Amino acid sequence: MTSPFHPESWEGIDDVVIVGGGLAGLFCALKLSPRPVTVITGAPIGEGASSAWAQGGIAAAIGTGDTIESHVADTIAAGAGIVDERVARAMAAEAAERIHDLLGYGVAFDRELDGALKLSREAAHSQRRIVRVRGDMAGAAIMSALVAAVRRTPSIRVLEGYVAEQLRSEGYYVTGLVARDRRGGLSDRIHLSTRAVVLASGGIGHLYAVTTNPPEARGEGLAMAARAGALVADPEFVQFHPTAVDVGRDPAPLATEALRGDGAIIIDKEGHRFMLDVHPDGELAPRDVVARAVHEAKISGRGAFLDCRKAIGEHFAERFPTVYAACMEAGVDPTKEPIPIAPAAHYHMGGVHVDSVGRTTLDGLWACGEVTSTGAHGANRLASNSLLEAVVFAARVAEDIHGLLPSHKTTHWTGAAASEAPNAPEGDDEAIRKVRAMMSRHVGVVRDRAGLTEALATIEELAEHRHSPQVTNALVAAKLIAAGALQREESRGGHYRSDFPSSDPKLAKRTFLTLDAANEIAEQAAAPLEMAS
Ligand SMILES: Cc1cc2nc3c(=O)[nH]c(=O)nc-3n(C[C@H](O)[C@H](O)[C@H](O)COP(=O)(O)OP(=O)(O)OC[C@H]3O[C@@H](n4cnc5c(N)ncnc54)[C@H](O)[C@@H]3O)c2cc1C
Repeated sequence: MTSPFHPESWEGIDDVVIVGGGLAGLFCALKLSPRPVTVITGAPIGEGASSAWAQGGIAAAIGTGDTIESHVADTIAAGAGIVDERVARAMAAEAAERIHDLLGYGVAFDRELDGALKLSREAAHSQRRIVRVRGDMAGAAIMSALVAAVRRTPSIRVLEGYVAEQLRSEGYYVTGLVARDRRGGLSDRIHLSTRAVVLASGGIGHLYAVTTNPPEARGEGLAMAARAGALVADPEFVQFHPTAVDVGRDPAPLATEALRGDGAIIIDKEGHRFMLDVHPDGELAPRDVVARAVHEAKISGRGAFLDCRKAIGEHFAERFPTVYAACMEAGVDPTKEPIPIAPAAHYHMGGVHVDSVGRTTLDGLWACGEVTSTGAHGANRLASNSLLEAVVFAARVAEDIHGLLPSHKTTHWTGAAASEAPNAPEGDDEAIRKVRAMMSRHVGVVRDRAGLTEALATIEELAEHRHSPQVTNALVAAKLIAAGALQREESRGGHYRSDFPSSDPKLAKRTFLTLDAANEIAEQAAAPLEMAS
């Protein structure tokens, strides 16, 4: 970790501040070089980021016989009717260039004997088009190469251990941000004046009790943007991964989809392969279908397990080292016994609304990676499209900033400011525990009006207490998701309403929401409850 923040060390720093040290943030910083930038990240770069945990890889239509159109068609099919086709096409078209960039930064993607990149196939992709590293090590390998590239790039200043908590704006112009040293007290709160802020703060998975995401993924960036007035899109669409390893660990380790791709089956306690009763594609049905079936099996007491004994067997450790280590650590030997599984909050299709170059609806604020909603994923993300989206949009943001703000300015450090909110008021941990349990119960795999109304009421109640800005942001992000879910009276992709179990063709459009609108939805939902009490 870098040494504590010293104002005098800031001279010459540019006015671009990137919030987040995952793939989107670091790629954007590298693409902006040699322009000086500052990356603020709550955890040391390479840690506290979903990017480092990605097991599958990056989708790119670069194989013989594959085409950009085929990648677009698969993306559109997965997105359940609301993918923005132009965005999906632009993303697929730039994949080869971005893979080339990653190779240049030193990522050692797997290769065939003839030197060509080795491509594998994942569910709902009609072609082999996933570039990987050593089986399930893509995320770790990509991040370790990028962290090394960032460390040797003198134009990138990394402020590790600083959590951004609020954007400062004048009207619709973002003029800076407030961050806090998470190890320190009140005096360690810093104000930065900026000309450009890039939000690359990742997803929202940790707002749920069962998730594959790191604790830093609590939607704080999404909330900061919404609180500053930015438009949010599709917040209700959360993807639940059907096969998280259910051994009581938080976050839950992931049993990658590739295991099912290689023939692993899902069974209940009795050994019954229940996915065949649910969908003709069995275990390779769309993620939301498998997640719901696993959810039903668990709540009905039948249990759900991933049985890899026959399909993977003795090759497990060598082919899926990350999953193997996680299982063995939990006392489950996947070569000898089925792995207990549960659906876990995994990826947020919704987020800060951005245009084709990553601009939000606020001047001075760009965003890229999982914190955004570009429209590329629609209601359901196609596997391995999120790392691709992160690099494509990070590069586009960098290019746009270069074009729009050609000259460099120095970032001003305006000193520590006292805050009325203590760093971690008592009750913060309890509030997070409550919100996570409530999100899993009522805003999870299966939703309905009563549960969503209760969720919004719980969020409002928790918000009445004094919390740290981080918890306030987490509650705002939870509210946006619940409000979007209550408003959408149909089922589509990652959003399933048991009281509206079908898709409604009239609702085949994206959701656009401000925080004010979400507050209104929450108030309206509360009105009948208040009348009844
Ligand atoms: C287990 C797992 C496996 C996955 N596998 C794949 C895969 O194979 N292929 C694929 O395409 N996608 C995969 N995904 C999804 C993909 O990893 C993410 O969507 C992508 O990495 C997001 O990148 P990002 O840079 O936007 O966010 P992240 O990598 O999550 O980075 C966010 C950064 O922001 C920081 N941060 C957050 N809040 C703040 C704050 N308030 N202040 C300062 N810093 C903050 C975090 O510490 C972190 O540095 C997987 C996800 C998980 C969890």
